[in-house]
Amino acid sequence: MLSTAEALSTLLSAASPINGTESIPTLDALNRVLSADVISPLDVPPMNTSSMDGYAIRTEDLTTDSNRRLPVSQRIPAGHAPEPLKPGTAARIFTGATVPPGADAIVMQEQTEAAGNEVTILHSPAPGEWITAQGADIRSGSIILPAGTRLTPQALGLAASVGCAELQVRRRVKVAVFFTGDELTMPGEPLKPGAIYNSNRFTLRGLLEKLGCDVTDYGIVPDRLDATRTTLREAAQAHDLILTCGGVSVGEEDHVKPAVEAEGRLSMWQIAMKPGKPLAFGAVRRAAQQTDAATSAETFFIGLPGNPVSSFATFLLFVRPFVLLLAGMRTVAPRALSLRADFTQKKADRRNEFLRARINAAGGLDLFPNQSSAVLTSTVWGDGLIDNPPNHAISAGETVRFIPFSELLN
Ligand code: AMP
Ligand code: MG
Repeated sequence: MLSTAEALSTLLSAASPINGTESIPTLDALNRVLSADVISPLDVPPMNTSSMDGYAIRTEDLTTDSNRRLPVSQRIPAGHAPEPLKPGTAARIFTGATVPPGADAIVMQEQTEAAGNEVTILHSPAPGEWITAQGADIRSGSIILPAGTRLTPQALGLAASVGCAELQVRRRVKVAVFFTGDELTMPGEPLKPGAIYNSNRFTLRGLLEKLGCDVTDYGIVPDRLDATRTTLREAAQAHDLILTCGGVSVGEEDHVKPAVEAEGRLSMWQIAMKPGKPLAFGAVRRAAQQTDAATSAETFFIGLPGNPVSSFATFLLFVRPFVLLLAGMRTVAPRALSLRADFTQKKADRRNEFLRARINAAGGLDLFPNQSSAVLTSTVWGDGLIDNPPNHAISAGETVRFIPFSELLN
């Protein structure tokens, strides 16, 4: 059996960013991945600006105590270009307005007394006081968002703040997905004896869509070798990854394994994890005419186990980072928290357990009582997974490694 870390590193070493980029409006680029660095064409702020309503002065004019009364030589609202500040005068200035050349400090209006066309300065500012220097936030020519960044709302705002109307992004990762199992029924259809609903279709499609993939859903493929091979061949043509669910165990009703072996290549992994364990990784050949220098001759294949919690957990731990690397991201590891276990789990498992737990009001972790890989309730109840190493029992009060769903579901 492979350890979780061995399986993950083997899987991720096979992934590299897909070919194909496009330029799209910044307003439409939410969640897309940058294929090129965004370089600022300007300084931000683009000029020295006042961060207070008050008066712009030359600090050298205030060296003597007697001379603190200055004539007001100009008025500068935000958005207007100032004249240079005449020596021995002050300029009335407002927040966000350009500091006039020659001025080296702003005195806030609460520390002044205005009378007619003159102002008395009641404070001795240090040079630079209440001035935001040109380029203090961003320097022209600097990289503000590196290639590989997935665009959050705040990243879009940052790009817009330097005037970027369009962004270079990688195309979306195209994923084909299908499900195997003659017992699977779609909600809305009557449930025959022995049948179950195809819940994984909903979970996996939601997970893929959250990652920003273009998903083609082939639905339920009958548990037959020929049907499985035909679907694989078709799906291989226009996709980067084929994801299946179910049928990767070794039962004789499991046709995914021989089908992928016939249409490409496959490694069957037994991973020492719970839930999870079987995971299939390989590739399906593309038809020759579809292949050119820019396109790979193969489409990746990942087969997930059918048990709902197993497929959910193996998706989060393996498929998610794999897809994000294809999408062009550079950092894909979820960040974990160290939290206190507020429960005891006496029995150590020889596998790496990923326990569904949630954060309680005291900031510790409660464990969902039923950790069976068929119990989907645990994934909705929980806030994340405790990554419990093999052969390790958990005592209350102990610090454990917790990976929140907030890290794994985006
Ligand atoms: P398998 O991996 O095909 O041996 O399936 C393992 C278990 O997961 C069986 O109980 C299946 O009925 C169940 N299962 C397989 N596929 C799905 C699915 N798409 N939705 C819900 N349960 C499934
Ligand atoms: Mg099956």
